[in-house]
Amino acid sequence: MRNVQPKASHYVGGAYAEDTAGAAIDVTYAATGEKVARLHAATPAIVEQALAAAEAARREWAALPGVERGRVLRRAADLLRERNRELSEIETIDTGKPLQETLVADAASAADALEWFGGIAAAVRGEHVQLGSDWAYTIREPLGVCVGIGAWNYPTQIAAWKAAPALACGNTMVFKPSEETPLCALNLAEILTEAGAPAGVFNVVQGRGDVGAALITDPRVAKVSLTGSVPTGRKVYSAAAEGMRHVTMELGGKSPMLVFDDADLDAAVGGAILGNFYSSGQICSNGTRVFVQSGIKEAFLERLTERLQGVVMGDPLDEAVNFGPLVSEAQLQKVLGHIEAGVAEGATLVTGGKRVQRDGWYVEPTVFADVTDGMSIAREEIFGPVASVLTFEDEAEGIARANATSFGLAAGVFTADLARAHRVAAAFEAGTCWINTYNLTPVEIGFGGSKQSGIGRENGLGAIEHFSQLKTVYVGMGGVDAPY
Ligand code: NDP
Repeated sequence: MRNVQPKASHYVGGAYAEDTAGAAIDVTYAATGEKVARLHAATPAIVEQALAAAEAARREWAALPGVERGRVLRRAADLLRERNRELSEIETIDTGKPLQETLVADAASAADALEWFGGIAAAVRGEHVQLGSDWAYTIREPLGVCVGIGAWNYPTQIAAWKAAPALACGNTMVFKPSEETPLCALNLAEILTEAGAPAGVFNVVQGRGDVGAALITDPRVAKVSLTGSVPTGRKVYSAAAEGMRHVTMELGGKSPMLVFDDADLDAAVGGAILGNFYSSGQICSNGTRVFVQSGIKEAFLERLTERLQGVVMGDPLDEAVNFGPLVSEAQLQKVLGHIEAGVAEGATLVTGGKRVQRDGWYVEPTVFADVTDGMSIAREEIFGPVASVLTFEDEAEGIARANATSFGLAAGVFTADLARAHRVAAAFEAGTCWINTYNLTPVEIGFGGSKQSGIGRENGLGAIEHFSQLKTVYVGMGGVDAPY
């Protein structure tokens, strides 16, 4: 296994920085439990240095023509692609996700975001409004220093999905990865410097929630973009509100997937596999409530169970492996607790359900059938490889039950009836919907949740609006007509 110990824990002002007085953060390889690196949480001194560096860099960075900022981002995209294998291996060691996945889904997705927002940077502009002989114009301005806080499931992608639109708009950023996966964002920071980003434009500080909390309450910070759970989102949103800061909240979900009896069965089963077992189920938009129309329940379960025979569990660094461990022992225990609750509440365990007898934090791909809406496995986000199959009779019932949740991150529908597909998509109370596919999130289209699952959108042109603000300038062309 490659040595993944970084040069230092943090990346501040264009260089690695260390303060060993910060609490130790050990990086553990989830496939074996072996400690592979040790970093330190940011001390108040490191937090201060990072915020000061971002503050010092922001005016110069914002003053650059968009096309020059874009060039930096596009160069960074090229470097990410050139180093895809090395970065994917680090991502696999950081998260435990199979290399088979990380080679195509992580640095590659980060590169897409940097390339796309790099291209958009030159096109960020305001408008001209004619008002008789007077006129006005708008300027789309950066917000200033932005804080990004990430979850542990897609550490490279999350850092880049926040950094790319933020930097394209002329903001600077301090990013705090999850303490479970501190390594990947450091590589992104180093690559941005190499690509020409001035010192302080993108900084990384490590730490737990207290470091995140210190960042978001600093008066220099204009915006917070969080990827995390709903409870953390509530805390971060309310802390940001104190300072009237902008927010983007990419939070959790319990998304529904509706499979009608006319659907292409293999496509629907494929969607359920991607939406429940990819990354061992540690994906926020997963379709973990699989509503299957009652007539095809048996055929669906049979095909799903059959295709799960294709799971290859093992060392995630082995490219033949397509199913890895969960990120940590704590996550393993949480997922096993949910499975136990499902059994206790009377759901039928179709397959899986157990911890795998080997080193590391592996849970078998698990499918429950005969799940009812009130069961905890149908209500709570599990964030592990656990699918709940429920049945429904008709479209109205399916939609009503799909929407009967406080989450609203994503939803999917599988059917051959195109009119129905669009009707159902329109009726879903969710920010991101798929028809006859699941969990595809290219940079060109917005991604994010409604209801408790979040505020704002990442990716797509919408992200530009979330990392900038409009200034209006009224231009008087004649005298001033005052009453006295
Ligand atoms: P958490 O909510 O536990 O943590 C998210 C991040 O917030 C971590 O970096 C965490 O630090 C930090 N944090 C915790 N408390 C605070 C605080 N008071 N102030 C500031 N920062 C804080 O989420 P997980 O890391 O467990 O990730 C899983 C969750 O993320 C799931 O709910 C999942 O659905 C969601 N998610 C959402 C996505 C989306 O785009 N909608 C995508 C991916 C995941 P630390 O953990 O280091 O203490």
